[in-house]
Amino acid sequence: LLYHQLRKLISIVDELRDVGLQQYINLPRIAVLGTQSSGKSSVLESIVGLDFLPRGDGVVTRRPLELRLNHQLDDVKPWAVFEEIPGKKFFDFQEVRKNIEILTDKVAGAKKGIVDKPIILNIFSHTCPDLTLIDLPGITRIPLAGSDQPNNIEQITRSMANRYVSDPRTIILCVIPANADMTTSDGLQMARELDPKGLRTLGVITKIDIMDKGTNAKRMLSGQDVPLRLGYVGVKNRSQQDIIDNMSVRDAIEREKLYFATHPVYSTMPQNMLGTDLLSSKLSKVMFTHIKHNLPEITKEIREKAKEIEERLRDLGPPLPAEGNEKMHLLWNMITDFVTIYKNTITGKFDSKRY
Ligand code: GDP
Ligand code: MG
Repeated sequence: LLYHQLRKLISIVDELRDVGLQQYINLPRIAVLGTQSSGKSSVLESIVGLDFLPRGDGVVTRRPLELRLNHQLDDVKPWAVFEEIPGKKFFDFQEVRKNIEILTDKVAGAKKGIVDKPIILNIFSHTCPDLTLIDLPGITRIPLAGSDQPNNIEQITRSMANRYVSDPRTIILCVIPANADMTTSDGLQMARELDPKGLRTLGVITKIDIMDKGTNAKRMLSGQDVPLRLGYVGVKNRSQQDIIDNMSVRDAIEREKLYFATHPVYSTMPQNMLGTDLLSSKLSKVMFTHIKHNLPEITKEIREKAKEIEERLRDLGPPLPAEGNEKMHLLWNMITDFVTIYKNTITGKFDSKRY
Protein backbone atom coordinates (compact mmCIF):
# COMPACT_ATOMS: atom_id res chain seq x y z
CA LEU A 1 0.00 0.00 0.00
CA LEU A 2 2.81 2.37 0.89
CA TYR A 3 4.45 1.71 -2.46
CA HIS A 4 1.25 2.35 -4.35
CA GLN A 5 0.71 5.67 -2.58
CA LEU A 6 4.34 6.58 -3.05
CA ARG A 7 4.11 5.99 -6.81
CA LYS A 8 1.13 8.34 -6.97
CA LEU A 9 2.93 11.04 -5.04
CA ILE A 10 6.12 10.69 -7.06
CA SER A 11 4.15 10.79 -10.33
CA ILE A 12 2.62 14.08 -9.28
CA VAL A 13 6.06 15.49 -8.58
CA ASP A 14 7.51 14.12 -11.86
CA GLU A 15 4.62 15.62 -13.83
CA LEU A 16 5.20 18.98 -12.19
CA ARG A 17 8.86 18.67 -13.14
CA ASP A 18 7.86 17.79 -16.73
CA VAL A 19 6.00 21.07 -17.18
CA GLY A 20 9.13 22.88 -16.01
CA LEU A 21 7.97 23.80 -12.54
CA GLN A 22 11.36 23.04 -10.93
CA GLN A 23 12.51 26.27 -12.58
CA TYR A 24 10.18 28.24 -10.31
CA ILE A 25 9.48 26.00 -7.36
CA ASN A 26 11.78 23.47 -5.71
CA LEU A 27 10.34 19.96 -5.95
CA PRO A 28 11.27 17.00 -3.75
CA ARG A 29 14.03 14.82 -5.17
CA ILE A 30 16.97 12.64 -4.16
CA ALA A 31 20.47 13.51 -5.33
CA VAL A 32 23.49 11.21 -5.04
CA LEU A 33 26.55 12.96 -3.68
CA GLY A 34 30.08 11.62 -3.37
CA THR A 35 33.65 11.72 -4.55
CA GLN A 36 34.64 10.09 -7.79
CA SER A 37 34.99 6.32 -7.29
CA SER A 38 33.22 6.34 -3.93
CA GLY A 39 30.72 3.83 -5.35
CA LYS A 40 27.84 6.08 -6.50
CA SER A 41 27.12 4.19 -9.72
CA SER A 42 27.40 0.87 -7.94
CA VAL A 43 24.86 1.96 -5.32
CA LEU A 44 22.47 3.20 -8.02
CA GLU A 45 22.71 -0.01 -10.01
CA SER A 46 22.05 -2.02 -6.87
CA ILE A 47 18.96 0.06 -6.10
CA VAL A 48 17.67 -0.35 -9.66
CA GLY A 49 18.67 -4.02 -9.72
CA LEU A 50 20.05 -3.81 -13.26
CA ASP A 51 23.38 -3.24 -15.01
CA PHE A 52 23.04 -0.15 -17.13
CA LEU A 53 25.46 2.59 -16.07
CA PRO A 54 28.56 3.46 -18.07
CA ARG A 55 31.82 2.57 -16.36
CA GLY A 56 35.40 3.58 -16.80
CA ASP A 57 38.17 5.70 -15.39
CA GLY A 58 37.87 9.37 -14.64
CA VAL A 59 34.55 11.17 -14.52
CA VAL A 60 32.07 8.94 -16.29
CA THR A 61 28.96 10.83 -15.23
CA ARG A 62 29.37 14.13 -17.05
CA ARG A 63 25.74 15.12 -17.25
CA PRO A 64 23.43 14.71 -14.28
CA LEU A 65 21.35 11.57 -14.81
CA GLU A 66 17.79 11.74 -13.58
CA LEU A 67 16.56 8.18 -13.03
CA ARG A 68 12.81 7.82 -12.80
CA LEU A 69 12.23 4.36 -11.45
CA ASN A 70 8.84 2.74 -11.90
CA HIS A 71 8.23 -0.45 -9.97
CA GLN A 72 6.37 -3.06 -12.03
CA LEU A 73 4.22 -5.57 -10.22
CA ASP A 74 4.63 -8.25 -12.86
CA ASP A 75 7.88 -9.99 -13.50
CA VAL A 76 7.98 -8.77 -17.13
CA LYS A 77 11.14 -7.91 -19.07
CA PRO A 78 12.40 -4.55 -17.74
CA TRP A 79 12.58 -1.64 -20.19
CA ALA A 80 13.80 1.94 -20.34
CA VAL A 81 12.82 5.14 -22.16
CA PHE A 82 14.93 8.27 -22.61
CA GLU A 83 13.14 11.63 -22.71
CA GLU A 84 15.55 12.65 -25.48
CA ILE A 85 14.67 9.58 -27.60
CA PRO A 86 10.87 9.70 -27.41
CA GLY A 87 8.80 6.69 -28.31
CA LYS A 88 11.64 4.16 -28.21
CA LYS A 89 11.51 1.40 -25.60
CA PHE A 90 14.88 -0.14 -24.77
CA PHE A 91 14.75 -3.73 -23.54
CA ASP A 92 18.50 -4.27 -23.86
CA PHE A 93 20.29 -2.52 -21.00
CA GLN A 94 23.63 -2.66 -22.81
CA GLU A 95 21.91 -0.39 -25.33
CA VAL A 96 20.76 1.83 -22.48
CA ARG A 97 24.36 2.12 -21.29
CA LYS A 98 25.56 2.93 -24.82
CA ASN A 99 22.87 5.59 -25.23
CA ILE A 100 23.74 7.27 -21.93
CA GLU A 101 27.26 7.59 -23.35
CA ILE A 102 25.98 8.87 -26.71
CA LEU A 103 23.70 11.44 -25.08
CA THR A 104 26.55 12.50 -22.81
CA ASP A 105 28.93 13.02 -25.73
CA LYS A 106 26.24 14.74 -27.77
CA VAL A 107 25.80 17.50 -25.22
CA ALA A 108 29.03 17.50 -23.21
CA GLY A 109 31.43 16.64 -26.06
CA ALA A 110 33.42 13.46 -26.52
CA LYS A 111 36.43 14.87 -24.68
CA LYS A 112 35.10 14.55 -21.15
CA GLY A 113 33.54 17.99 -20.70
CA ILE A 114 30.90 18.34 -17.98
CA VAL A 115 27.48 19.94 -18.58
CA ASP A 116 24.55 20.68 -16.29
CA LYS A 117 21.76 19.46 -18.55
CA PRO A 118 20.28 16.28 -17.13
CA ILE A 119 19.64 13.09 -19.08
CA ILE A 120 16.19 11.88 -18.07
CA LEU A 121 15.85 8.11 -18.07
CA ASN A 122 12.67 6.24 -17.16
CA ILE A 123 13.11 2.65 -16.02
CA PHE A 124 10.26 0.16 -15.67
CA SER A 125 11.17 -2.98 -13.78
CA HIS A 126 10.03 -5.36 -11.06
CA THR A 127 13.53 -5.07 -9.57
CA CYS A 128 13.38 -1.35 -8.73
CA PRO A 129 11.44 0.71 -6.18
CA ASP A 130 9.33 3.75 -7.12
CA LEU A 131 11.77 6.59 -6.80
CA THR A 132 13.33 9.45 -8.74
CA LEU A 133 17.08 9.74 -8.16
CA ILE A 134 19.68 12.08 -9.63
CA ASP A 135 23.23 10.88 -10.23
CA LEU A 136 25.62 13.84 -10.25
CA PRO A 137 29.13 14.06 -11.64
CA GLY A 138 31.44 13.04 -8.79
CA ILE A 139 33.53 15.63 -7.05
CA THR A 140 36.80 15.55 -8.98
CA ARG A 141 40.08 17.11 -7.94
CA ILE A 142 42.28 16.78 -11.01
CA PRO A 143 41.30 17.07 -14.71
CA LEU A 144 41.80 13.92 -16.77
CA ALA A 145 44.92 14.11 -18.96
CA GLY A 146 44.15 14.80 -22.63
CA SER A 147 40.54 15.73 -21.92
CA ASP A 148 38.50 18.90 -22.32
CA GLN A 149 38.23 19.17 -18.55
CA PRO A 150 39.32 22.58 -17.37
CA ASN A 151 41.77 23.10 -14.53
CA ASN A 152 38.98 24.27 -12.28
CA ILE A 153 37.21 20.90 -12.58
CA GLU A 154 36.98 20.64 -8.81
CA GLN A 155 35.14 23.94 -8.65
CA ILE A 156 32.84 22.96 -11.54
CA THR A 157 31.90 19.59 -10.08
CA ARG A 158 31.49 21.10 -6.63
CA SER A 159 29.30 23.96 -7.76
CA MET A 160 27.09 21.62 -9.79
CA ALA A 161 26.64 19.33 -6.80
CA ASN A 162 26.08 22.42 -4.72
CA ARG A 163 23.30 23.66 -6.99
CA TYR A 164 21.33 20.44 -6.60
CA VAL A 165 22.07 19.69 -3.02
CA SER A 166 21.65 23.15 -1.48
CA ASP A 167 17.92 22.98 -2.22
CA PRO A 168 16.22 22.23 1.11
CA ARG A 169 13.72 19.95 -0.64
CA THR A 170 16.46 17.64 -1.95
CA ILE A 171 17.28 14.51 0.03
CA ILE A 172 21.05 13.98 -0.05
CA LEU A 173 22.10 10.39 -0.61
CA CYS A 174 25.66 10.74 0.54
CA VAL A 175 27.99 7.94 -0.58
CA ILE A 176 30.97 7.40 1.70
CA PRO A 177 33.61 4.70 1.18
CA ALA A 178 34.41 2.78 4.38
CA ASN A 179 38.02 2.21 3.44
CA ALA A 180 38.98 5.84 4.02
CA ASP A 181 38.60 8.12 7.02
CA MET A 182 35.03 9.35 7.08
CA THR A 183 36.06 12.90 7.97
CA THR A 184 37.99 13.17 4.68
CA SER A 185 34.90 12.39 2.57
CA ASP A 186 34.19 15.30 0.19
CA GLY A 187 30.58 14.25 -0.10
CA LEU A 188 30.02 14.18 3.63
CA GLN A 189 31.81 17.51 4.05
CA MET A 190 29.58 19.15 1.47
CA ALA A 191 26.46 17.55 2.94
CA ARG A 192 27.44 18.89 6.36
CA GLU A 193 27.89 22.41 4.98
CA LEU A 194 24.53 22.45 3.20
CA ASP A 195 22.58 20.43 5.74
CA PRO A 196 24.38 21.26 8.99
CA LYS A 197 21.85 19.59 11.26
CA GLY A 198 21.89 16.42 9.13
CA LEU A 199 18.12 16.53 8.66
CA ARG A 200 17.91 15.52 5.00
CA THR A 201 21.09 13.50 4.52
CA LEU A 202 21.08 9.72 4.33
CA GLY A 203 24.56 8.17 4.51
CA VAL A 204 25.51 5.12 2.47
CA ILE A 205 28.72 3.40 3.54
CA THR A 206 30.26 1.46 0.62
CA LYS A 207 33.32 -0.79 0.35
CA ILE A 208 32.75 -2.29 3.80
CA ASP A 209 34.31 -5.51 2.50
CA ILE A 210 37.67 -3.92 1.73
CA MET A 211 38.40 -2.10 4.98
CA ASP A 212 41.74 -2.56 6.72
CA LYS A 213 41.94 -5.90 8.50
CA GLY A 214 40.95 -5.54 12.13
CA THR A 215 38.72 -2.49 11.53
CA ASN A 216 34.98 -2.35 10.91
CA ALA A 217 32.29 0.19 10.06
CA LYS A 218 30.30 -0.17 13.29
CA ARG A 219 31.05 3.32 14.58
CA MET A 220 30.39 4.92 11.19
CA LEU A 221 27.09 3.09 10.79
CA SER A 222 25.84 4.00 14.23
CA GLY A 223 26.45 7.68 13.49
CA GLN A 224 28.73 8.15 16.49
CA ASP A 225 31.24 10.09 14.41
CA VAL A 226 28.89 12.21 12.30
CA PRO A 227 25.24 11.99 13.40
CA LEU A 228 22.54 12.09 10.71
CA ARG A 229 18.84 12.04 11.49
CA LEU A 230 18.09 9.68 8.60
CA GLY A 231 21.02 7.51 9.63
CA TYR A 232 23.41 5.33 7.65
CA VAL A 233 23.09 2.15 5.62
CA GLY A 234 26.07 -0.10 4.92
CA VAL A 235 26.29 -1.88 1.57
CA LYS A 236 28.64 -4.24 -0.19
CA ASN A 237 28.66 -3.64 -3.93
CA ARG A 238 30.48 -5.54 -6.64
CA SER A 239 34.23 -5.14 -6.67
CA GLN A 240 36.05 -4.35 -9.90
CA GLN A 241 36.94 -8.04 -10.13
CA ASP A 242 33.27 -9.05 -9.75
CA ILE A 243 32.44 -6.73 -12.64
CA ILE A 244 35.24 -8.16 -14.78
CA ASP A 245 33.88 -11.62 -13.97
CA ASN A 246 30.45 -10.52 -15.21
CA MET A 247 28.67 -10.99 -11.88
CA SER A 248 25.12 -9.65 -12.24
CA VAL A 249 23.69 -7.06 -9.88
CA ARG A 250 21.08 -9.52 -8.64
CA ASP A 251 23.74 -12.11 -7.81
CA ALA A 252 25.77 -9.43 -6.05
CA ILE A 253 22.79 -8.58 -3.85
CA GLU A 254 22.42 -12.25 -2.85
CA ARG A 255 26.13 -12.33 -1.97
CA GLU A 256 25.73 -9.13 -0.01
CA LYS A 257 22.96 -10.70 2.08
CA LEU A 258 25.11 -13.71 2.81
CA TYR A 259 28.10 -11.51 3.65
CA PHE A 260 26.24 -9.49 6.28
CA ALA A 261 24.37 -12.50 7.67
CA THR A 262 27.57 -14.47 8.31
CA HIS A 263 29.99 -11.69 9.24
CA PRO A 264 31.20 -11.91 12.88
CA VAL A 265 30.52 -8.21 13.55
CA TYR A 266 27.73 -7.22 11.16
CA SER A 267 25.58 -10.28 11.82
CA THR A 268 25.24 -9.11 15.44
CA MET A 269 24.22 -5.55 14.49
CA PRO A 270 20.64 -4.28 14.07
CA GLN A 271 19.65 -5.32 10.55
CA ASN A 272 17.97 -1.97 9.86
CA MET A 273 21.28 -0.48 8.77
CA LEU A 274 22.65 -3.08 6.39
CA GLY A 275 22.12 -4.08 2.78
CA THR A 276 20.81 -2.82 -0.54
CA ASP A 277 17.22 -4.03 -0.03
CA LEU A 278 17.07 -2.13 3.21
CA LEU A 279 18.50 0.97 1.54
CA SER A 280 15.75 0.85 -1.11
CA SER A 281 12.93 0.47 1.36
CA LYS A 282 14.40 3.11 3.65
CA LEU A 283 14.72 5.59 0.77
CA SER A 284 11.11 4.89 -0.23
CA LYS A 285 9.88 5.59 3.28
CA VAL A 286 12.00 8.73 3.59
CA MET A 287 10.76 10.02 0.24
CA PHE A 288 7.14 9.29 1.06
CA THR A 289 7.29 11.25 4.30
CA HIS A 290 9.29 13.98 2.63
CA ILE A 291 6.84 14.54 -0.25
CA LYS A 292 3.84 14.37 2.05
CA HIS A 293 5.43 16.86 4.37
CA ASN A 294 6.28 19.26 1.51
CA LEU A 295 3.13 19.05 -0.63
CA PRO A 296 1.02 21.62 1.28
CA GLU A 297 3.79 24.21 1.02
CA ILE A 298 4.33 23.39 -2.68
CA THR A 299 0.60 23.73 -3.38
CA LYS A 300 0.69 27.13 -1.72
CA GLU A 301 3.67 28.21 -3.82
CA ILE A 302 1.96 27.05 -7.04
CA ARG A 303 -1.17 29.07 -6.13
CA GLU A 304 0.91 32.17 -5.46
CA LYS A 305 2.79 31.73 -8.73
CA ALA A 306 -0.49 31.30 -10.63
CA LYS A 307 -1.89 34.47 -9.06
CA GLU A 308 1.23 36.39 -10.02
CA ILE A 309 0.90 35.21 -13.62
CA GLU A 310 -2.81 36.06 -13.76
CA GLU A 311 -1.97 39.59 -12.66
CA ARG A 312 0.65 39.89 -15.38
CA LEU A 313 -1.86 38.63 -17.93
CA ARG A 314 -4.33 41.28 -16.79
CA ASP A 315 -1.65 43.95 -17.34
CA LEU A 316 -1.29 42.77 -20.92
CA GLY A 317 -4.83 44.01 -21.69
CA PRO A 318 -7.87 42.31 -23.20
CA PRO A 319 -7.31 39.14 -25.21
CA LEU A 320 -7.85 38.92 -28.98
CA PRO A 321 -11.53 38.51 -29.93
CA ALA A 322 -12.72 34.94 -30.09
CA GLU A 323 -16.10 35.57 -31.79
CA GLY A 324 -16.53 34.91 -35.50
CA ASN A 325 -17.50 38.39 -36.68
CA GLU A 326 -14.95 40.29 -34.61
CA LYS A 327 -12.27 37.80 -35.61
CA MET A 328 -13.04 38.31 -39.30
CA HIS A 329 -12.94 42.05 -38.81
CA LEU A 330 -9.53 41.89 -37.11
CA LEU A 331 -8.19 39.53 -39.74
CA TRP A 332 -9.48 41.77 -42.53
CA ASN A 333 -7.71 44.80 -41.02
CA MET A 334 -4.49 42.87 -40.71
CA ILE A 335 -4.67 41.78 -44.36
CA THR A 336 -5.39 45.26 -45.72
CA ASP A 337 -2.60 46.70 -43.54
CA PHE A 338 -0.22 44.07 -44.85
CA VAL A 339 -1.20 44.75 -48.47
CA THR A 340 -0.67 48.49 -48.00
CA ILE A 341 2.77 47.94 -46.47
CA TYR A 342 3.68 45.53 -49.22
CA LYS A 343 2.57 47.91 -51.99
CA ASN A 344 4.37 50.85 -50.42
CA THR A 345 7.51 48.82 -49.97
CA ILE A 346 7.75 47.78 -53.61
CA THR A 347 6.83 51.27 -54.83
CA GLY A 348 9.39 52.75 -52.39
CA LYS A 349 6.79 54.72 -50.46
CA PHE A 350 7.10 52.76 -47.24
CA ASP A 351 6.59 55.03 -44.27
CA SER A 352 8.16 53.22 -41.35
CA LYS A 353 6.71 55.75 -38.91
CA ARG A 354 3.18 54.66 -39.67
CA TYR A 355 3.77 51.02 -38.81
P1 GDP B 1 31.55 6.21 -8.71
O1 GDP B 1 32.68 6.84 -9.44
O2 GDP B 1 31.32 6.90 -7.41
O3 GDP B 1 30.34 6.05 -9.53
O4 GDP B 1 32.08 4.74 -8.28
P2 GDP B 1 31.78 3.31 -8.94
O5 GDP B 1 30.45 2.81 -8.54
O6 GDP B 1 32.10 3.34 -10.38
O7 GDP B 1 32.84 2.42 -8.13
C1 GDP B 1 34.24 2.61 -8.24
C2 GDP B 1 34.96 1.28 -8.04
O8 GDP B 1 34.76 0.79 -6.73
C3 GDP B 1 34.46 0.19 -8.97
O9 GDP B 1 35.55 -0.56 -9.41
C4 GDP B 1 33.56 -0.68 -8.09
O10 GDP B 1 33.55 -2.01 -8.51
C5 GDP B 1 34.23 -0.53 -6.74
N1 GDP B 1 33.27 -0.64 -5.62
C6 GDP B 1 32.17 0.13 -5.40
N2 GDP B 1 31.52 -0.24 -4.27
C7 GDP B 1 32.22 -1.28 -3.76
C8 GDP B 1 32.07 -2.13 -2.61
O11 GDP B 1 31.14 -1.98 -1.80
N3 GDP B 1 33.02 -3.10 -2.43
C9 GDP B 1 34.06 -3.29 -3.29
N4 GDP B 1 34.93 -4.27 -3.03
N5 GDP B 1 34.24 -2.52 -4.37
C10 GDP B 1 33.35 -1.54 -4.62
MG1 MG C 1 29.86 6.89 -11.43
